[in-house]
Amino acid sequence: MNLDALFALDCGMYLICSEFAGKMNGMVVNALVQVTAFPPQVVVSVNKESLTWELIEKSQSFTISVLDKDTPLQLIGLFGFFSGREKDKFSQVRYMRGKTGLPIVTDHALAYLEARVISSLDAGTHQIFLGEVIETDFLQKGPEPMTYGYYRDIKGGRVPRTAATYHEELEEEKKERYRCQVCGYIYDSQFGDPDSGIQPGTPFDKLPSDWVCPICGASKDKFEKIG
Ligand code: FE
Repeated sequence: MNLDALFALDCGMYLICSEFAGKMNGMVVNALVQVTAFPPQVVVSVNKESLTWELIEKSQSFTISVLDKDTPLQLIGLFGFFSGREKDKFSQVRYMRGKTGLPIVTDHALAYLEARVISSLDAGTHQIFLGEVIETDFLQKGPEPMTYGYYRDIKGGRVPRTAATYHEELEEEKKERYRCQVCGYIYDSQFGDPDSGIQPGTPFDKLPSDWVCPICGASKDKFEKIG
């Protein structure tokens, strides 16, 4: 079985947020899709170890922010690689409150939706929520949404082991690249790290000594050469 083939199932990059009893949190998800139009409903797969899952279970509602293509890795890292049990993610982003009263991250959000949970399905490590969309709108017009394929292939981003789309890299390409041993982010000199001001074509050993992983903040010595 070649699990790399599953990368052909491209999907988006979203922030899912919820709140219960004054505690709010959010995380990155990519396993989300609209499944019916009348009424509009979506399904989303959420890891059961996450604080966000706990908040959705209790509040039975969630919001989704659709990330645009220009979303910096730092924002994806904050919501994708840190637990809300250790970090107050909302102190570092702009957000608004919608019809449900739940927080909706507006930084780099192309569109948003708010949903109430209609049903859910146990999927082992994850729980799949069916949500009826009760509000949705654009937050900006123009930029394209970020796809998971773009995040992986162009931005060099990876997902944590807890993500619904995670699997071990079966085949690494031969190019000279460096992998963050903390989060899996891959620095490819061909692309540089524009979100941190590093131009494409900058070799890893020419990165400033205070450069850190754009996703998890690990220092240069946490990187290993791959390929
Ligand atoms: Fe990292």
